[in-house]
Amino acid sequence: MEKDNKTSDFLHIGNKLLSWYGKNARDLPFRQTKDPYKIWICEIVFQQTRISQGLNHYNNFIKRFPDVKTLAEAEENEVLLYWKGLGYYSRAINIHKASQQIMNDYHGVFPADYEEILKLKGVGKYTAAAISSICFDGKMPAVDGNFYRVLSRIFADDFDISNSRAFSYFSQLAGLVMPENVGDFNQAMMDLGSEICKPKNPLCSECPVNDDCLAFSLDKTSDYPVKTKKVKASDLSLKYYFVHRNGQFLIRQRKDDFIWKKLFEFPTAISAELEPFIKGVKTVTHKLTHKNLTIEISSVEIDSEAVWNRFTSENEYIITDFEASHEKSFPKPLENYIQNSLKD
Ligand code: SF4
Repeated sequence: MEKDNKTSDFLHIGNKLLSWYGKNARDLPFRQTKDPYKIWICEIVFQQTRISQGLNHYNNFIKRFPDVKTLAEAEENEVLLYWKGLGYYSRAINIHKASQQIMNDYHGVFPADYEEILKLKGVGKYTAAAISSICFDGKMPAVDGNFYRVLSRIFADDFDISNSRAFSYFSQLAGLVMPENVGDFNQAMMDLGSEICKPKNPLCSECPVNDDCLAFSLDKTSDYPVKTKKVKASDLSLKYYFVHRNGQFLIRQRKDDFIWKKLFEFPTAISAELEPFIKGVKTVTHKLTHKNLTIEISSVEIDSEAVWNRFTSENEYIITDFEASHEKSFPKPLENYIQNSLKD
């Protein structure tokens, strides 16, 4: 595996990918720029979101926060609001913190060096490699799931991608095929992985490197990549109370980091005095990456002004209404609940 890529026997594979990319690159808004700020935002937005689903969010985000300074000066809750619908809100919190880091530690200038980019909050090796190669001619492969899949198939390599050494193993493997233009090569691998060498049913007949692909020639594409360890999602039950009166309801901002960091939620407990006001209970399920949630939401309709005043004055909740709640970010199941309550 130790090879200098200039003498690698496999360099022609990278070159084929480059010329394929030259003709077939997806026409995406962030492909027209080398602004590291925009490339960074797009890399984070599309980490767990499909391009078609995240494109509007990306455009709106860039429109409202066109540069590092504007983002750094914004309120965190507004950043969260523009992230609404993308999920994984810790990404938005990290982006916001990193923009302040760039203002404070780099005088507002996006760092060009891979190691420096890596110091930004929420930026991992993949993102740092993508930004440095696309914007600053850096030479690191942006190894992600696409690289694992494409390379393990091309070389029919059964290295387990759940192994903790997978990143460094596939980085070396990438070095064998990687041409000088690493920025375009990284983007070619992204496009090939998402458009052609898909996880299921890869479109091998359209693939620019099918002549070089061992898994394809062995008719074993579905055997790669090899992954042995499956992270099992654990079950978690949550209880909420939708305490409301005359179109107003109570919320608070989450403080813990456990899940849904900084999002808004309903009260999780009520006093005994409120129990007679419970009008119904709805149970919904929701999946997070490592959690299967069962959420029980009780509708507590308070028809006594005195009780409402007492409960709201004794507890640190925010009183909101349907209109104002659009300005806040809620976890998806609570957001759906609010929308449905509006219809009832
Ligand atoms: S030939 Fe098929 S399996 Fe091999 S890299 Fe291309 S799309 Fe992937």
